[in-house]
Amino acid sequence: MGRNSLEKFVIVVVSFVIAFGSLLPVAQGQSDKKNGERSLRGYTASNAKSQIEWEEKMRALPKPDLLREYMKHLSAEPHHVGSAYGRQNAEWMRDKFRSWGFKAEIEEFDVLFPTPKERLLEMIEPERFRAQLKEPALTEDPDSGDENQLPSYNAFSADGDVTGQLVYVNYGVPADYEVLEKMGVDVKGKIVIARYGASWRGIKPKVAYEHGAIGCLIYSDPRDDGYFQGDVYPAGPYRPERGVQRGSVMDMPVHPGDPLTPGWGAVKGARRLPREEAKVIMKIPVLPISYADALPLLKALGGPVVPQPWRGALPITYHVGPGPARVRLKLSFDWSLQTLYNVIARIEGNAYPDEWIVYGNHHDAWVNGATDPISGMVTVMEAGRAMGESLRQGWRPKRTIILCAWDGEEPALLGSTEWAETHAEELKQKAVVYLNSDSTGKGWIQMGGSHSLERFINEVARDISDPKRNKSLWAALKDRRIEQAAEREEKRKIEARSDLAISALGSGSDYTPFIQHLGIASLNTGFGGEGGGGVYHSAYDSFAWYTKFSDTTFEYGRALSQFNGTIVMRLAGADVLPFEFTNLAETVNGYIEEIERLEKIAGAPKAVDFASLKSAARALDQSARRYEEALRKASAKNFEQVKQVKALNELLYKSERQLTNEQGLPRRPWFKHQIYAPGFYTGYGVKTIPGVREAIEQKNWDEVDPQMKNVSAALSALASQIDKATRLLEGK
Ligand SMILES: [Zn+2]
Repeated sequence: MGRNSLEKFVIVVVSFVIAFGSLLPVAQGQSDKKNGERSLRGYTASNAKSQIEWEEKMRALPKPDLLREYMKHLSAEPHHVGSAYGRQNAEWMRDKFRSWGFKAEIEEFDVLFPTPKERLLEMIEPERFRAQLKEPALTEDPDSGDENQLPSYNAFSADGDVTGQLVYVNYGVPADYEVLEKMGVDVKGKIVIARYGASWRGIKPKVAYEHGAIGCLIYSDPRDDGYFQGDVYPAGPYRPERGVQRGSVMDMPVHPGDPLTPGWGAVKGARRLPREEAKVIMKIPVLPISYADALPLLKALGGPVVPQPWRGALPITYHVGPGPARVRLKLSFDWSLQTLYNVIARIEGNAYPDEWIVYGNHHDAWVNGATDPISGMVTVMEAGRAMGESLRQGWRPKRTIILCAWDGEEPALLGSTEWAETHAEELKQKAVVYLNSDSTGKGWIQMGGSHSLERFINEVARDISDPKRNKSLWAALKDRRIEQAAEREEKRKIEARSDLAISALGSGSDYTPFIQHLGIASLNTGFGGEGGGGVYHSAYDSFAWYTKFSDTTFEYGRALSQFNGTIVMRLAGADVLPFEFTNLAETVNGYIEEIERLEKIAGAPKAVDFASLKSAARALDQSARRYEEALRKASAKNFEQVKQVKALNELLYKSERQLTNEQGLPRRPWFKHQIYAPGFYTGYGVKTIPGVREAIEQKNWDEVDPQMKNVSAALSALASQIDKATRLLEGK
């Protein structure tokens, strides 16, 4: 997954901070100098000095040529869940990590992973047409013709053989059905065709099913993903006419992971639900198709001409239908269990072995997946090699470092979720931070995650050089945001704020089980924003494409290894963990103000009262400021008066747990975080303070107050946890 999701979040969050971010006084800067020496947040002066030296040595180690070599190997053959090459890749990475000094093992799980047995799509009226459903091999790209490719399909579609009139539903999101209703068009008993975009793909069949449709086609329109964007592959990077976006349509906003073991680990011999009881398998057949296959179907639609914003870039006048096009969609799947191979590699901490810094990327792909996920996976490997080399040179992390190569991310975040569920109790005790990456390209650093780590990740971004611009990653991103800001006021606010805003995490990659299920503070990083493309989840996401159109010199890959390697080393070596809460309080306050402005709120039967929620947010802000003041004083004395440093760190890294609620969110108890969740009707897209926000958006008025209470309780619990940490910092 990845690619399509991260950048949109960044835009949303940046514009939110611009609109709502109050400018708090800048707490002690981290990169400032004390007596000519650089300080690091949470480090004594002498430890900061040696830490900085080790980090600089480590950053000299990652090599672009090795990133290229790993990518060439890992993307040489299709390596989806259950494939022979996927297993070989896992074993190859395990052996690499071992050779670099890690203790590395493969951890297996058995999960449901459907693969197609039969795929048929034909139009029977007004004329006959049979869709090809095939991505042809290109002579320019030797891997595009590899054997053992998974055909184009949507995983966790239902089996079915349905025939019906076709209706074009634009992106197939709830708002599109409101438009259809006004036009008097009903999809009941019909097959819908939706274009990719505007939501996570699984939302389209879910909403179609809720409106009574019996089947769903999803196609890539060239306006969003194809020749309208630029030259198509192999001449350019964009999606060719027969390129298809595969992908999962499991109802992951309810829960990710194995549908048969929701909430517990899919280890061998685990209790499993019968498939009919699994709540997250799509109820209707769904198939993704190319724009070449979609064109004859759309051309055969009658009925009203679509509204202007619904028009794509195919050479036709777009009509809604229904009919006269009638299509038959016949799909059947092999529903057997497959084995996952997660690679788990560790370096034991020498002072706090039971405090874990976990850093992962998935290794499974839909086809060869050079971009998704190998571009990110190789940066984890190269950061691992650099850390291993640092160990040989004498570096010793205080905390345990665990590097993970997840299997089964593409179908449903399977490898990470099953691992997190299996080790839930231990992770809740020991996990300090989860750091994730996935597809990465070129351009600017993208940072998402827990806002208690916003200041920390800003600190690290200031220390890493941009490979193409003569400045830090941080300065390059700041300049970019100022340049892209539409208004002077936005520019001024970006300039005035000490930290760059990071995006809130929705879903779309392996951080979800850690942050949203277990309440482990998480970060997600990658490069993007320069150059585009259209090979996402297709057979053309290959080594040839990546080395021609993306980070061709692997210099941004090296920068990502340096950045994430530094994040891990700095967390692993801190005397006092670098969590910071004033940015979190500011951000949460902004979310509340944003919810207050939701238009739908005017329709509430009685006025929605935000007073108690706001007072909890204010109390959090005050606790956060007191903590900063105490940290400043304690840091100036090298933490000498802190008697219980282990207890202090435990309070800090368990702070994110306070933001969870055991009952979880309405209709999706697996999602326990009260501040961040993927939207029930947006999929990857984040909904912040989701319980309250979605209650208002869905007009579930009875839910607003109870959800507000849950969020207030979480904020209050966090504030009192911070107060305890403050007392320990003060030596009390
Ligand atoms: Zn991915």
